[in-house]
Amino acid sequence: MTADAPQRRLVVLAGPTAVGKGTVCQWVREHHPEVWVSVSATTRAPRPGEVDGSTYHFVTPQEFSRMVEDGRMLEHAVVHGVHSYGTPRDPVESALEQGRPALLEIDLQGARQVREAMPDALFVFLAPPSWDELVRRLVGRGTEDAEERERRLATAERELAARDWFDVSIVNESVERAGADLVDLLLDPPPVPADRRVP
Ligand code: 5GP
Repeated sequence: MTADAPQRRLVVLAGPTAVGKGTVCQWVREHHPEVWVSVSATTRAPRPGEVDGSTYHFVTPQEFSRMVEDGRMLEHAVVHGVHSYGTPRDPVESALEQGRPALLEIDLQGARQVREAMPDALFVFLAPPSWDELVRRLVGRGTEDAEERERRLATAERELAARDWFDVSIVNESVERAGADLVDLLLDPPPVPADRRVP
C-alpha cells in the first residue's frame, strides 16, 4: 500500500494519562476542520463542561455492551481498571471513505486492536517532556481523587514503556507545536514500515 491508501489517513494517538492528548486533539479540531476527529463512547460520567456527543458519547454499561455485541466498535477497552471506552466503527469508516484524514485518541489496548484491524494506520505516541512533568500535570489537573490518581499513574508507567511500539513519537512541549506536528502527519503520512506491509 502507498502513503495514499485510505487506512494510512487514519492516525491513532496514544500516550500516558495527563500527557495532554485531549488538549492536542482539541487544538486540531479548532484549527484544522479538514481533519475528522473521532468521538468515543464511554461509560464514565461526564466531568464539568463535557458535552454529550461532542467530548464523548456518554452511555450506560448496557448500551456499551450492546454496541460491542453488535460489532459497532472498532476497538474497546476498560481503561484505568474501571470504565469502558470504545471507538464507534461506522463514523471512522465513513471519514476514510470520504478521503478525510481521521484522528483517534485512545489508550494503548485500543491502539493494539486497531493495528490488528487496520495495520496501515499510523500510530503516534504523545510523550511528556519528563516523568516529573507528567506527575505535575496529573496532580495539577485536579479532576481525580488520590486513589484515581494512583491508578492512572500506574497505567501511565506501563504506557510510557510502550513508546517503542509506535511508528512516531511527539514530545508534548507545547500544544501548538505538538498539534502542528500531528497535523503534518495526518496530511502527509510517512510510508508504511516494510515489516507491516501486507504482502
Ligand atoms: P478520560 O477519562 O480522562 O477522558 O480518558 C481516559 C483514557 O481513556 C485516556 O487515556 C484516553 O486515551 C482513553 N480513551 C478515550 N477514548 C477511548 C476509546 O475510544 N478507546 C480506548 N481504548 N481508550 C479511550
